[in-house]
Amino acid sequence: METWQEVLKTNSIRSLEALATKFGPEHFPDLDRLRQAAENFEFRISPAMVDLIKSPDDPIWRQYVPTVDELDVVDGIVDSLNEDADSPVPNITHRYPDRALFLVSPVCASYCRFCTRRRKVGDPEKIPMSQFESAFQYLEQHTEIRDVIMSGGDPLLLNDRRLEAILTRLRAIPHLEIIRIGSRVPCHLPERITPELCAMLKRYHPLFINTHFNHPDELTPAAVKGLGMLADAGIPMGCQTVLLKGVNDDPAVMKLLMQRLLMARVRPYYIYMADQVAGAEHFRTSIQAGIKIMEALRGWTSGLANPYFVIDAPGGGGKIPLLPEYVVSMSDEEVVLRNFRGQQYVYRQPREEAGVITLKNGRKPRSRPGRKTA
Ligand SMILES: *Cc1c(COP(=O)(O)O)cnc(C)c1O
Repeated sequence: METWQEVLKTNSIRSLEALATKFGPEHFPDLDRLRQAAENFEFRISPAMVDLIKSPDDPIWRQYVPTVDELDVVDGIVDSLNEDADSPVPNITHRYPDRALFLVSPVCASYCRFCTRRRKVGDPEKIPMSQFESAFQYLEQHTEIRDVIMSGGDPLLLNDRRLEAILTRLRAIPHLEIIRIGSRVPCHLPERITPELCAMLKRYHPLFINTHFNHPDELTPAAVKGLGMLADAGIPMGCQTVLLKGVNDDPAVMKLLMQRLLMARVRPYYIYMADQVAGAEHFRTSIQAGIKIMEALRGWTSGLANPYFVIDAPGGGGKIPLLPEYVVSMSDEEVVLRNFRGQQYVYRQPREEAGVITLKNGRKPRSRPGRKTA
C-alpha cells in the first residue's frame, strides 16, 4: 500500500461516533436523525480536512459533516442535471458537441455533502469499474469528441497503474486532442501528489487538471506544494469552486480564495451556483449573492482572478454564464456602460450600423441587399 492510501485508511473520520469523540458529543444532539442523514450518502473526512476544522459549523465543517438539514427536501432533485438521460453508455455523459464526461472512479477522499452526484458517488455499483470497455468504444466511435473529462468520484484516487492504463487507452484515440482530470485530491489528500504520479501524468500531454477549492484556508502549505508539483509537470490547472452558503458566500472570502489559487499557479475557471440537489438545499444561496461576488471581483482584483460564474441548468441544459449587468442602455447610436466603480461611459456605435446614415452630398443612402433598414 502506498503512503497516501495508508494515510487515508487509518486517519480519516468515517463515523458519527468518531466525530463526536473528536469534537464533543454536545455538537450532535439529534444523533438518530443525523444517522439517517449520514446513511443517505457516503461519509468520510480525509485527514487533511479533519485537521482544517477549527470549530463546529465553520466553512470546512459545513462541507463535510452531515446535518439533519439534508433530510429536508423541498425543491431538490436526485439527478438535478439530468446526467443519466445524456448517458449513452455506462460511465459516459455526452451533452456538448465536442466533449464528454467519463466517470472513472466511484470514490473520493472526502465526501462533500453538497455533491451533485450524491446518487452515484461512494457506491462502486453505481459507477461500475468493470464496464469501461463500452465507454472506450463510445469515445473511439464518436470522432466529434476532442476533449474528454475524467471525473467521478475522484480519478486521482485510482492508483498510478490503473490511471495510466486509462490514459494510455485514451491517448490511443487520435481525435481526442485534450484530456482533462477533475480532482479534489490536491485539497483533500495532498499526500497523493507524488513525484511518481507527476512523472506519469506528464507523458500524456496535453493534459489539464481542474481542481476544486472552496475556501482560502484550504490552500494549506501541503496543498500548495502538491499544486506546485503538478504545475512543474507542465499541467495547466483550473479551479471549479462552488458557491456555498456559510462557506464562501462572502465577496471578501471569495476574493481571497481566487488570489490564493493564483499564488498556487491555479487559474480560477468556474464559480458554480450550488446545484438544486436533493439533500443539499441548505447550501444554496440566491443568484444575486453570486452576482454581487462577481461584481466584487471584476475591476477590483486581477482579471486572472475572475472566473466565469455559471449555473448548471437543472434538467440538463448545461452551463449558462451569469454576469452582473454593465450595460445601462443600448440603442443603434450608443451604448451606455457602467464601470466597476459605477461610473457611466458612452460608447458610440459605428455610424454604418446605426441605420441613420447621411452621405456627404446630403442624399439618403440606397438600401443595400441584406441590410436592415429602420
Ligand atoms: C461541465 C461539463 C463539461 C465540460 O464543460 P466545459 O464548459 O467545457 O468545462 C462536459 N460535459 C458535461 C456533462 C459537463 O457537465
